[in-house]
Amino acid sequence: MKKNILVIHTGGTISMQVHAETGGVVLSDANPLLMEIDKIQQFAHITEVEAFNLPSPHMTPQKMLQLVSTITEQMANQPFDGIVITHGTDTLEETAYFLELATNYTIPIVLTGAMRSSNEVGSDGVYNLMAAVRVASTDEAGGKGVLVVLNDEIHTATSVTKTHSSSVSTFQSPQYGPIGIVTKSAVYFHHAPLSRTYLPIQSIDKKVALFKTYAGMEGELLDMIPTLGYDGVVLEGFGQGNVPPTLVASIQNLLDKKIPIVLVSRCFNGVAEASYAYEGGGKMLQEMGVRFEHGLSGQKARIKLLLELCAQK
Ligand code: ASP
Repeated sequence: MKKNILVIHTGGTISMQVHAETGGVVLSDANPLLMEIDKIQQFAHITEVEAFNLPSPHMTPQKMLQLVSTITEQMANQPFDGIVITHGTDTLEETAYFLELATNYTIPIVLTGAMRSSNEVGSDGVYNLMAAVRVASTDEAGGKGVLVVLNDEIHTATSVTKTHSSSVSTFQSPQYGPIGIVTKSAVYFHHAPLSRTYLPIQSIDKKVALFKTYAGMEGELLDMIPTLGYDGVVLEGFGQGNVPPTLVASIQNLLDKKIPIVLVSRCFNGVAEASYAYEGGGKMLQEMGVRFEHGLSGQKARIKLLLELCAQK
């Protein structure tokens, strides 16, 4: 029996087209995907909602929370069997991870997008939407957290990241790989996530900054954090979790002001841990009270710290 799938559009290249005169990729007044949905109805009963029509660099945590509300409202009206969200690829992983933390549905929630806009040769939008609907229509996709489907691969929101600026195989899960694949006739899962974190929030009233460390980095930017009203900081440290010694005093200053600091590695494989005991080394940072976040990129650790702070009321 066909499943009832809610498709929520938010914009992105999947909903854009190349302008005939300028050659620039632009937003469409009428989402081109709406005209293509007939091709996908054979796989599921589709209900479409347009939440936004935004390039994904325009997404914000506030809009991500609005998306959570849209899902809650739609599910209250009709208990769908699965949800597919179309999204620009630039920040897709951040919205996916936000939904992973801020929702706890057991039905499949699948994000998809496209690297080529609707009127480009080899456009991947309709194909990826179809694959996402097929994945969301399987029972196996349920209970695995929020998923991301592009280029015939199924990734978890926690592990996936955009790795290439233009390739259609841009979405990868470094270190872990996809948890399933989509073929012409079937959807296969070969892994499942072990655990899930749920951080329900009502509003976004905190600010978290993200810094990538670099050789010779000065502490001045960190020193501005309290003045600028930030409530938390994520640092992408070197290797196993080390920072330049020039940051230590600034980090101590923030911790003294009860501003939490989360450390991840700027390496996209491996985890940050307290190994090195030199000035600015991970061991020293841990003893100072810096928290190590395992297996998350800087941008996802930022979403997690933000939601943790917003959930603390
Ligand atoms: N810049 C676009 C966006 O994220 C890229 C895409 O959708 O592929 O909106």
